[in-house]
Amino acid sequence: MAAAHLEKLNDRQREAVEHGIGLPDGKIGGPLLIIAGAGSGKTNTLAHRVAHLIVNGADPRRILLMTFSRRAASEMARRVQRICRQVLGDNAAILTDALAWAGTFHGIGARLLRMYAEQIGLSVDFTIHDREDSADLMNLVRHDLGFSAKQSRFPTKGTCIAIYSRVVNSEASIKEILKSSYPWVLEWEGELKQLFAAYVEAKQTQNVLDYDDLLLYWAQMVSEPELAEDVGNRFDHILVDEYQDTNRLQASILMSLAPGGRGLTVVGDDAQSIYSFRAATIRNILDFPKEFSPRPADVITLDRNYRSTQPILAAANGVIELARERYTKNLWTDRASEQRPVLATVKDEIDQAAYIVEQVLANREVGVTLKQQAVLFRTSSHSSALEIELTRRNIPFVKFGGLKFLDAAHVKDMLAVMRFSQNPRDRVAGFRVLKLLPGIGPQTAGKILDTIAADPEPLQSLAEIPPPAKTGDDWPAFVTLVTALRKADAGWPAEIGTVRMWYEPHLDRIHEDADTRKDDLLQLEQIAGGYVSRERFLTELTLDPPDATSDQAGVPLLDEDYLILSTIHSAKGQEWRAVFMLNVVDGCIPSDLGTGSTPELEEERRLLYVGMTRARDNLTLITPQRFFTHGQNAQGDRHVYASRTRFIPATLLQFFETASWPKISAAANEQSSRQVRVDIGARMRSMWK
Ligand code: ATP
Ligand code: MG
Repeated sequence: MAAAHLEKLNDRQREAVEHGIGLPDGKIGGPLLIIAGAGSGKTNTLAHRVAHLIVNGADPRRILLMTFSRRAASEMARRVQRICRQVLGDNAAILTDALAWAGTFHGIGARLLRMYAEQIGLSVDFTIHDREDSADLMNLVRHDLGFSAKQSRFPTKGTCIAIYSRVVNSEASIKEILKSSYPWVLEWEGELKQLFAAYVEAKQTQNVLDYDDLLLYWAQMVSEPELAEDVGNRFDHILVDEYQDTNRLQASILMSLAPGGRGLTVVGDDAQSIYSFRAATIRNILDFPKEFSPRPADVITLDRNYRSTQPILAAANGVIELARERYTKNLWTDRASEQRPVLATVKDEIDQAAYIVEQVLANREVGVTLKQQAVLFRTSSHSSALEIELTRRNIPFVKFGGLKFLDAAHVKDMLAVMRFSQNPRDRVAGFRVLKLLPGIGPQTAGKILDTIAADPEPLQSLAEIPPPAKTGDDWPAFVTLVTALRKADAGWPAEIGTVRMWYEPHLDRIHEDADTRKDDLLQLEQIAGGYVSRERFLTELTLDPPDATSDQAGVPLLDEDYLILSTIHSAKGQEWRAVFMLNVVDGCIPSDLGTGSTPELEEERRLLYVGMTRARDNLTLITPQRFFTHGQNAQGDRHVYASRTRFIPATLLQFFETASWPKISAAANEQSSRQVRVDIGARMRSMWK
């Protein structure tokens, strides 16, 4: 008889949960790979495995659990606690600090690097750059080298940082990356090498790490056998979800931490690999069993889907069967249903939005709450017409994977102040902060930053600088603020209130809509309250910022009902009773940008598969007959006539119920939609400037 908490699992899931547990002398089992299709209970099995380890005496503080997002990690921790409580009852009190090491690769990396900073020659107060900061620093360096001025055809800062990141993450040479993904940039190979070398040097002198450094430094750290052993010894078990979306660096980190695969469990589905644009490689999961010697990893596959109804699963299987290469096999389910997925044709994006709203409300009438429904799309901008319609109809929604709360200029300003006081050599933060002061332009800011960077005590040196011309009282107020922050006078999280009070007058001066922005600052203060220290707040917020929501950016609307809007990428691992996918047309999915090569096209197919397999009871794919593309020509937006995605050829139509939805009179619709689009579009853009 299985223990009560394992009763609900099927035999293979249970085998995975119990693998290597209860060996004689408390020995820890060897490597395990769980590879299986969507909705087969991989994540659920992983949560049970962690709980089962703890129930069997493993120390939760010595379990390293890595997931794809911070949200997924805390969800997993919650589930583990629930199962443990079920089994251990009140003893579960010992679990309050359980799973201290659950998080994303980047988050865990940041923590370990700070712990080991001294041993690896990092200064412990390093700050972390998000993608935008990294691009800004790349830009500063590029200017210093004179590349941008010399040649206007030199790649943009965004392209430079993308290439850099690809090279670093794939462990490939710059030439290989340029040849395969950026052939039009090949002529700049020499300059790019010079630029990247200078960029790396700039990061080091400024004591900053970018996203990629968190993995890179971590991998470097554990390539030293002694350090690898030291870090590896902190953990008895290492478990990784969504392994198909890891890159080479991540795999090599794991191999160094768990030599021979001791205590290592990875879980994934090759058919759901959708992050190759960030250098993730399907080879990691496919090669995993062979990585270990003398004994290869055990492999457990699961073939039963518990999530979706049979017709939804049949359609999703149909789509993925056309893929060129695939390891995981088709799934089966016993969830019978009469309802096939719907393939709905609508006239345009305006009708699409109206159609979705109507269906969402109809679902709610029959008891499917808004939260149990999601609208998924290939690219964040695809949902704008829908967002307008939802706002107009007063339907609350939360958008994942789109603009982030932290992208707002005023929020970045606040964080930059804190970052600057933590690490005054952080030039990007320094520029951002100094430019807030009236009278200080880029040149003066540059000089100030040069001066203080040359001093072993940068903040001391800041205090001694004669006040720059025209800064008046603002200068001493600024110096006092950063000095107090440095000394942590006010304490955490109270200090964030101090920063806000200092910042608000500047906000009033800079932005016309200062009042709305002030609400965000209050919210930032509220969010800060949830973190134990400034350092954890800055690190974790930078790595995995909260998503923008409909009426309260940043803070999830916990007790209200709201519809989920999400990019397919951000919907990974999740499920809803009803799922709508919009713009299921060629040009959107596959994206125009993803049709260049077979591997790219195959990744787009997997994206569609990931989206479809999020649905439990109802799935609706919508194809507008025409859609807007944004700003792709000199005139800005334009209409494009669309056809159904090539991933659903005529042979697959049998799996769908087709519907069309022409309702509103064409002329009237055209008129009103045009006006709304212009008004709101401009407003949305200006909000995030
Ligand atoms: P994805 O590939 O999308 O990440 P997954 O394989 O991780 O999916 P889960 O999210 O763990 O799948 O599970 C999918 C659904 O199936 C969840 O609702 C889960 O509760 C349910 N489920 C998993 N295993 C069982 C089981 N043995 N009995 C009943 N329900 C199950
Ligand atoms: Mg999962």
